[in-house]
Amino acid sequence: MKLCSITMLASLLWACSDPSTEVPAPPPNIILFLVDDLGWQDTSVPFWERETPFNKRYRTPNMERLASQGMKFTQAYATPVCSPTRVSLMTGMNAARHRVTNWTLQPDQIKPMETNHDFLEFPLWNVNGISPDSTLPNAVFATTLPEIMQHHGYHTIHVGKAHFGAIGTPGEDPLNLGFDVNIAGHAAGAPKSYYGAENFGNTPEFQDTPWPVPGLEKYHGKDIFLTDALTNEALSALDQSTKPFFLYMAYYTVHTPIMANPKFLNHYLEMGLDSIEASYASMIESMDRSVGNILDYLEERQLSDNTVILFMSDNGGLSAVARGGQPHTHNKPLSSGKGSIHEGGIREPMIVKWPGVVQAGSENDNYLIIEDFFSSILEIAGIDQYETNQTVDGKSFVPFLKDNQLRVQDRPLYWHYPNEWGPTGPGIGAFSAVRKGDWKLIYYHLDQRFELFNINNDIGETTNLAESHQKIRKDLATLLTNYLLSVNAQMPKNKQSGELIPLPG
Ligand code: CA
Repeated sequence: MKLCSITMLASLLWACSDPSTEVPAPPPNIILFLVDDLGWQDTSVPFWERETPFNKRYRTPNMERLASQGMKFTQAYATPVCSPTRVSLMTGMNAARHRVTNWTLQPDQIKPMETNHDFLEFPLWNVNGISPDSTLPNAVFATTLPEIMQHHGYHTIHVGKAHFGAIGTPGEDPLNLGFDVNIAGHAAGAPKSYYGAENFGNTPEFQDTPWPVPGLEKYHGKDIFLTDALTNEALSALDQSTKPFFLYMAYYTVHTPIMANPKFLNHYLEMGLDSIEASYASMIESMDRSVGNILDYLEERQLSDNTVILFMSDNGGLSAVARGGQPHTHNKPLSSGKGSIHEGGIREPMIVKWPGVVQAGSENDNYLIIEDFFSSILEIAGIDQYETNQTVDGKSFVPFLKDNQLRVQDRPLYWHYPNEWGPTGPGIGAFSAVRKGDWKLIYYHLDQRFELFNINNDIGETTNLAESHQKIRKDLATLLTNYLLSVNAQMPKNKQSGELIPLPG
């Protein structure tokens, strides 16, 4: 530090410190909670204008705690299935551009439900996921978010579900994508079992399947739920961290198989829920408890004030199959669920806590999309000098965090799914879509049908305005077409004629 004379101190106290020798504030620690398949209504935190029956059903006191300390985003979007969202998060690219448009697992081949489709011939999308190797075919070669953070001094920790790359490719291992630590992440997007007593699926009968969870051997045979084992391992990784950390806490839960955490089950059975729905609710509460344990850890170690927390889900709540009750109703007031381009498939519960920057207990209704997390997390980390191999589509939402009055109404968001998921239902099937302002246009590849909704007036997407509002439909179709052309998006073909499905414009 510079020495100051008495006279200087008297007259120019403010000028005595030399900016070149000031110690810069340390970069914040960053935790991203990414819950798998958590729906917009799978929480006691209301993300709509009023509390819903689902908000009363589920107990998530730690999401409430986070919301009370941070900013709640009511219109945060992901893609309708796992891998496209995760690849967009890691690369900042829109799915139409990175072409990992469906969920990854087997290398070099499209999914059997795509091959076997009656009417559409699907393109060979980037079935191998992200690759750190530019020569791997059918993969997106990109500079990843953790790679950039690692380069800038962050200790990067991956916990839970990875699902970034196909089996046998380098991208299946988070250590090849910029993470210093990988706990339990691999190619598969679901666990065989949530129970330590069942070795999380590591038993002879399943050893040749992709589903047994790797790397948690010390919990095998123990009475512990997968979410709790991941929490323990995350906390011990934080214990060993000597640098600013980026913890990517990517829960396997609440993805199928729906298996109860017995610690939380009874309350929901006593409410009268069927055993599937009660089990599902217990998985949500178990996830919430894990979030709470990690928040407690930060408080106990006085790390809370310098740790930014982001909470997000990777797609809408599952509703088409495997749930109790009526299909397509589990995200009400939203229509449909996972796999659908209706709001139930893409709208997510999102919260950001940033002490000293974000106003506690605030709410923000700007819409944004998952690739925005890439640019935002780098900005939060103070990293502004970086290069990527890819074109980044995401835009930082940090301006919203800093100024809750800021409104952006004219930005278009895009979704593109030239693929087949399997189940059927509202908004499910190959599509391209755009949201701009209050309007959302969906174009279905199979029959070239349009749906146009005013999301602000009709959040449940009950009234298709494609015929009555033709000017808006045409303008949005042109916008969508131009975007798809600009990123060289893939399209399916008509199986009978062999011709590409025409673009929406
Ligand atoms: Ca998912």
